[in-house]
Amino acid sequence: MSLFTALRPRSGRPEYFFTILNKGNILDIKDQYYDIIEDTIDFLKTGFAERKKRTYPDWKNEPGLDQEALKSDECARFDRDIRVCTRCRLYQDRLNAVPGKGNINADVVLVGEGPGEMEDVKGEPFVGKAGQLLTSMLAAIQLKREDVYITNIVKCRPPENRTPLPDEILSCITFLEGQIELINPSIICCLGWTAAKSMLGSDLSLSRLRGKFHRYKNIPLLPTYHPAAILRFPEKYKRAAWTDLKMLRDFLKNM
Ligand code: SF4
Repeated sequence: MSLFTALRPRSGRPEYFFTILNKGNILDIKDQYYDIIEDTIDFLKTGFAERKKRTYPDWKNEPGLDQEALKSDECARFDRDIRVCTRCRLYQDRLNAVPGKGNINADVVLVGEGPGEMEDVKGEPFVGKAGQLLTSMLAAIQLKREDVYITNIVKCRPPENRTPLPDEILSCITFLEGQIELINPSIICCLGWTAAKSMLGSDLSLSRLRGKFHRYKNIPLLPTYHPAAILRFPEKYKRAAWTDLKMLRDFLKNM
């Protein structure tokens, strides 16, 4: 099988390659060419099952570099990688992968479970009714969506909005790890149990995890209820979620 046919059915890489060629920036092309070679070797060896984790410079402390440009290039690279990813079965039914959206210099990263129907259609996180509630929740603590970065544990919609399976989370989590490393937020807020347990490696219920600060790789992490759960059972979750939001607000105020 030629390299071209080996890549086309599963990864969409040829299209990706020509997009890169059209950019006209030779350094960018060189950098991304090496990425394609690395991806190709990974694909031929493992079918992307064990893709190596990239390493990132410490964006906030490296002198003499255009930090903003590097960071936004790296973020765009993440988006491209996620949009063509075939590491787990969830790519098969997606309309769009949903890498994440927001301020890549944000102090707050919000992590949900996975894209729903509207997110799958639009390729953006939290755009349905739960997204509207999230916007209101943020506004209640004087945050706009542009102030934060919003993403999910898995970047493709699970069928019928089911909870992502452990192997799907395992396949996808390196994207989130890379995003967190890149953004380097002051605090992470997990929306829902799937996000909290995946990031904390805990089997405690959300009612036991929420209302407290935890740590994810030395970054404070605050779990709270998913807006979709609050919409479904407002009498059960709204008050507790508001308490968590106030904790987030006070944390940001005292930074
Ligand atoms: S859910 Fe994540 S690992 Fe699975 S195909 Fe989508 S981007 Fe890739």
